[in-house]
Amino acid sequence: MKKSTKILLSEKEMPRQWYNIFADMPNKPLPPLNPVTREPIGPEALAAVFPMELIRQEVATERYIDIPEEVLNLYKIYRPSPMYRAINLEKALGTKSKIYYKYEGGNYSGSHKANTAIAQAYYNKQEGIKRMTTETGAGQWGSAMSFACHHFGLELLVFMVKVSYHQKPGRRILMNSYGAKVVPSPSTMTASGRKVLESDPESPGSLGIAISEAMEIAAQDPYTKYSLGSVLNHVSLHQTIIGQEALLQMEKAGDYPDVVIGCFGGGSNFSGISFPFIRENIVNGRKTRCVTVEPSSCPKLTKGKFMYDFGDSAGLTPLLPMYTLGHNFVPEKIHAGGLRYHGAGVLVSQLLKDGFVDAKAKMQRECFEAGVFFAKNEGILPAPESNYAIAAALDEARKADIEGVSRTILFNLSGHGHMDISAYEKYFDNNLPDHEMTQEEVDKCVAAIEI
Ligand SMILES: *Cc1c(COP(=O)(O)O)cnc(C)c1O
Repeated sequence: MKKSTKILLSEKEMPRQWYNIFADMPNKPLPPLNPVTREPIGPEALAAVFPMELIRQEVATERYIDIPEEVLNLYKIYRPSPMYRAINLEKALGTKSKIYYKYEGGNYSGSHKANTAIAQAYYNKQEGIKRMTTETGAGQWGSAMSFACHHFGLELLVFMVKVSYHQKPGRRILMNSYGAKVVPSPSTMTASGRKVLESDPESPGSLGIAISEAMEIAAQDPYTKYSLGSVLNHVSLHQTIIGQEALLQMEKAGDYPDVVIGCFGGGSNFSGISFPFIRENIVNGRKTRCVTVEPSSCPKLTKGKFMYDFGDSAGLTPLLPMYTLGHNFVPEKIHAGGLRYHGAGVLVSQLLKDGFVDAKAKMQRECFEAGVFFAKNEGILPAPESNYAIAAALDEARKADIEGVSRTILFNLSGHGHMDISAYEKYFDNNLPDHEMTQEEVDKCVAAIEI
């Protein structure tokens, strides 16, 4: 029988609800705290920067949440997204294992981030908001929001991490094309930005700093709200369409994954692909191993500490219980810009603590090597972030071969790398240094913020 390499769902089969893993978690996450009183905060504390429906989703306890019709209509332009069996990659590896990937790069933003950008812009529009602010690292989130905001008639101001602003002019121009205004962060537009520039005029910026700037602007005007592209519960929720489709596609393929892999920045694409499979583990006794892969230079899950910390560097967010490197951490300038964040989503953090998630860290050169190997065999040049998931998938296949078993491996190909050509150029020029943060360095960073 000829094996099909492309597993598709029809529009009719696309899930109509997002999955909220909170409902199935044996240990619920700790509540967010007010940083001053250290008392649990209520949803109203977030109302200055987020619309009410997203705040409701942030603390929702129901298992499934309906996807609004207007959001489904935009999803249908590029969803259901394809799943592929990587036959040629398997052959080139000579593995007995089966490798599948879910491809989230086939939309206007080139990454999974469109899945939540569309939902967030929609809910803000519904509540009468006129203008949005956000941060972006590598530029994927900014591009995702730019189109979504334009579609729903909202203005957008993007604070782009300075190092990426200069490394990736292509992303900035893409955002401009969709009508967004883009400012390099740290900037002089905000008090948080000016404070960083005073102490370090050459600061490369970080996601934490850019978040502070975007939140500061949003908090000053009732018609301006802020949006975050990762980390928060409602963002992970919107991404679960990925894993729910993958469950159906695996069923179509007559297979089921032993391992599910996602790269890890703040946790949204990993949550998206894995939460529906973790539910199968919790509720139906399945035994899928769910693996996150982060850069060795930003190892919050593998070396960070589980504690209350801020989501941004200026301390404007509530305190969140998560694995963190400390909110003042400024990562090395690795090229997987989307993975340079100090913390991790609250839901994933609790799931890791409870043993439902397995965390790995990798150096960037090995990941680029894996990405180029993948491109040669499957034809898609991956986003530098996605290369971390690919490298881990190759590890799993090799490990299975050494053990003499065949495993079914599924990873999320979170985006394509067409806007990241300069990072590949550096890789080919042998100009991509490896960097690993030691446990001692991590402990020092974390100790600096412990109160
Ligand atoms: C933003 C991004 C990531 C990392 O963010 P998560 O929230 O951890 O998913 C990974 N891959 C791509 C392509 C991205 O754009």
